[in-house]
Amino acid sequence: MIRIILPFIALVFGLWAWNLPAAPGAASSWAVYDQSLLLSGLLSIALMSLAMMLALRPAWLERPLGGLDQIYRSHKWAGILAVVFAAAHWLIEMGDDVIESIFGEAGKLHDPDYSGFIDAMRDVAEDVGEFAIYLLFAMLLITLWRKFPYKYWRYLHRVMPALYLLLAFHAAWLTPLQWWQQPVGMLMAVLLLSGSIASGLSLAGRVGRRRQVRGTVTGVKTPARYVTEVTCDLGPAWRGHRAGQFALVTFNTMEGAHPFTIASADQENGTVTFLIKSLGDFTRDLSHKIRVGQTVKIEGPYGCFDFNRRNRKSHQIWIAGGIGVTPFLAWLEALGTNKTTVPEADLHYCTRNAGQDPMVARLQQLCQDFPGINLQIHDSSKGESLSAEKLSTGGPSTAGEEVWFCGPAGLGRVIQQGLRAAPFRLTRFHKEAFQFR
Ligand SMILES: Cc1cc2nc3c(=O)[nH]c(=O)nc-3n(C[C@H](O)[C@H](O)[C@H](O)COP(=O)(O)OP(=O)(O)OC[C@H]3O[C@@H](n4cnc5c(N)ncnc54)[C@H](O)[C@@H]3O)c2cc1C
Repeated sequence: MIRIILPFIALVFGLWAWNLPAAPGAASSWAVYDQSLLLSGLLSIALMSLAMMLALRPAWLERPLGGLDQIYRSHKWAGILAVVFAAAHWLIEMGDDVIESIFGEAGKLHDPDYSGFIDAMRDVAEDVGEFAIYLLFAMLLITLWRKFPYKYWRYLHRVMPALYLLLAFHAAWLTPLQWWQQPVGMLMAVLLLSGSIASGLSLAGRVGRRRQVRGTVTGVKTPARYVTEVTCDLGPAWRGHRAGQFALVTFNTMEGAHPFTIASADQENGTVTFLIKSLGDFTRDLSHKIRVGQTVKIEGPYGCFDFNRRNRKSHQIWIAGGIGVTPFLAWLEALGTNKTTVPEADLHYCTRNAGQDPMVARLQQLCQDFPGINLQIHDSSKGESLSAEKLSTGGPSTAGEEVWFCGPAGLGRVIQQGLRAAPFRLTRFHKEAFQFR
């Protein structure tokens, strides 16, 4: 998020500040009021445009931003901040009377006189903006209210591009005319145009089309009580994937796409396997909802949780929590086909109950050919839990340690925080974000 949102805000703020000397009015209270109104509105629509563009799932941004899961995090934060600035914009607009009662009307900047049509459009734009902003606030509240079911939220969220178009209309008509000849106006034009195109593509259902492949479910197994293993045949249309990547999987059009890590290495024959844990409405009893022979739509591959991107000088610490083991299974499978690149690594697997978890045996089997990979099982049923201190007992490496984590967000946070006090040099902490909302 920091990689894109902060520089973006700095750019927008910088261009607004650049334009200040050309702004009408002296440094009066009313000029400050006006510029605050404009700046909050500008930041809001700019961030909303960014959120719209990121929602297109741009594959070319995956590398610089660290994967689609990270792009979605940036999309989410751009959206949240856009609403925060929209709220500030709305409060400032509503505070007009308060300012007037404090500072009086003297120095108040009046709107330039436009012709009848422009004036009428500006009035419409103001009303549209107010209406859209209330919807936006409602959307944010629903998004932050975790108990609101994801499947309904997804449908509601699809309204966002339409809401964006209303707000873009508001912004385009109410931007001061003088801005359009300045860098800030040019940025605004680019953002409004790109955001509107992105919204159009979203509304037309064209996002990710070129990465979608149809195939058939060829296997459904339940290796453990809460886990379903699904194998799909996508044929030659599937252009392959890197171990650790994920895909958006649609078993049922009404249900829509769910992201799952591809738990198998690329077989070069269009076969992919997913290990799906019962974590909610749709994934509960999944083996009864899907069947061998049915059609499946898969979009991807996405993500940069790819061990080929590791720092080859750093010692590797790989941490899997529960179903977060899926990318590591794919890594180990991929290593099996290319033994020359096997790195030395500590692989920690945290499980609730090792005795009942088939992934333990699977990991042990996959690791047995790689003496450099030191598998450690942490079984909570025996009171064994993984902490940053346990990682640091592995012995310091002069080239530093690189951690790859996939598992529950809470465990990831605790380990990442604990590692700040670790007696070794942490070169990087990669984390696959299993949560989009
Ligand atoms: C990059 C990534 C990789 C993942 N890999 C795996 C994996 O290999 N195995 C596995 O078991 N799980 C994986 N997940 C989690 C999996 O996507 C969710 O558990 C699943 O979508 C839950 O669906 P549900 O309808 O059963 O849950 P619900 O009860 O509807 O929702 C539970 C939570 O799951 C998430 N979720 C639900 N539907 C979606 C959706 N369509 N898109 C995104 N998130 C959703 C939301 O955070 C929601 O709050 C991954 C998630 C991400 C983001």
